[in-house]
Amino acid sequence: MNKITNHLPTAELQALDAAHHMHPFTANAFLAEKGARVITRATGVTLTDSEGEQILDAMAGLWCVNIGYGRDELADVAYRQMKELPYYNTFFMSTHVPAIALADKVAELAPGNLNHVFFASGGSEANDTNIRLVRTYWQNLGKPSKQIIIGRNNAYHGSTLGATSLGGMKGMQAQGGLLPGFAHIGQPHWYLEGGDMSPEEFGLMRARELEAKIAELGEENVAAFIAEPVQGAGGVIVPPDSYWPEIQRICDAHDILLIVDEVITGFGRTGEWFGTQYYGLRPDIITIAKGLSSGYAPIGGSVVSDHVAEVLGREEFAHGYTYSGHPVAAAVALENLRILEDEKIVDHVKNEAAPYLAEKWHQLGDHPFVGETKIVGMMASLALTADKSVRKPFESPAGTVGYMVREKCFANNLIMRHVGDRMIVAPPLVMTKADIDLLFERAVKSLDEGYAAVKEAGLLKTAG
Ligand SMILES: *Cc1c(COP(=O)(O)O)cnc(C)c1O
Repeated sequence: MNKITNHLPTAELQALDAAHHMHPFTANAFLAEKGARVITRATGVTLTDSEGEQILDAMAGLWCVNIGYGRDELADVAYRQMKELPYYNTFFMSTHVPAIALADKVAELAPGNLNHVFFASGGSEANDTNIRLVRTYWQNLGKPSKQIIIGRNNAYHGSTLGATSLGGMKGMQAQGGLLPGFAHIGQPHWYLEGGDMSPEEFGLMRARELEAKIAELGEENVAAFIAEPVQGAGGVIVPPDSYWPEIQRICDAHDILLIVDEVITGFGRTGEWFGTQYYGLRPDIITIAKGLSSGYAPIGGSVVSDHVAEVLGREEFAHGYTYSGHPVAAAVALENLRILEDEKIVDHVKNEAAPYLAEKWHQLGDHPFVGETKIVGMMASLALTADKSVRKPFESPAGTVGYMVREKCFANNLIMRHVGDRMIVAPPLVMTKADIDLLFERAVKSLDEGYAAVKEAGLLKTAG
């Protein structure tokens, strides 16, 4: 077991990687000096790297490997589908069985009247679909001025030009990424932005920014509002309880569509099938990807309500991807959903894994380095702090301290990410209590070591 399967030494792989492979969201010159960690195989919740190290993956890859690694059933389904029908398109009045079966299954699982699926190869593409879809919807209804889509600061909806414009990542938008026709409101991030307000007051205030923005732009110009139930890449920002009911009220009171981006929260992560159910929302469209196939194949989609689908279907919607509903990806996704259902993994999250992770995670809040802990289902965050008595950032540029802690995690064979100076996890949903104990043990060790390192570097200072 634990055989190293790559044929080249790590240093050679790293050199080749640096010479030819451009990494996403990476300063490649910096990485070239440092050398990328080469992951060679994985089973369950554990990765193996080219040095034979066993790493606990508390991020489920990129929030996607919901059922864990190494499930042969998915490999078998992919093999069979590739032999039977490796590719055919769904343009021009054709269809195929995997796309039919997956759309049918997703419609069954998705809440309310979300019964129609437009496939893409991932979340960014699906959100690009959503932009064109909601604008075309209003055109078909004879309201072509309704074009602006409202998103939120520090939201993540993907990395294409459209998805970057929907999102609110300033650093991404600064790199050629903000189209006209988008507007943004504040995020419900009480810890750093709530000032003297209670979380509930602040949640209401941030929700009402949507109503103010609709008034400012003119309801006749607004197509939709988009948001993640819990901001993921923004740092697992859990909104105050007052937030979502008020957003839903505002969407109901105004003639705009609600798009809920379920790319992370879909398929069990919150302990419900969808974050929409966790928060009691009634969206017109949800975005899905990641957990749809547990990352075993690239696939995503937009799940659309009966009404929106009916209006859109009145004309040709001149949109689609060569790989929309790709048969191999669809077959793999379908098998993933079978496993999630048959093995009652969503119940496991709700009744076992998430409550236990929450108990452990909140214990981290006792650490002198931790200002707050937040968790919904199997996605959790903590704020690093120099002073627990105030809710303030560090004096050093955001992310300086977080990066140092992440390096400790990496060295301790724990994949935990930093977003600025928040540490986040989103483990595979199949984690057992023993896995969670290991996560906790390595997290404490990394926090202890990180705290010491930050102190020694003279960075344990709160912004003035
Ligand atoms: C990851 C993510 C996306 C983008 O999905 P890709 O498959 O990377 O294109 C969109 N929305 C959210 C909320 C995400 O977390």
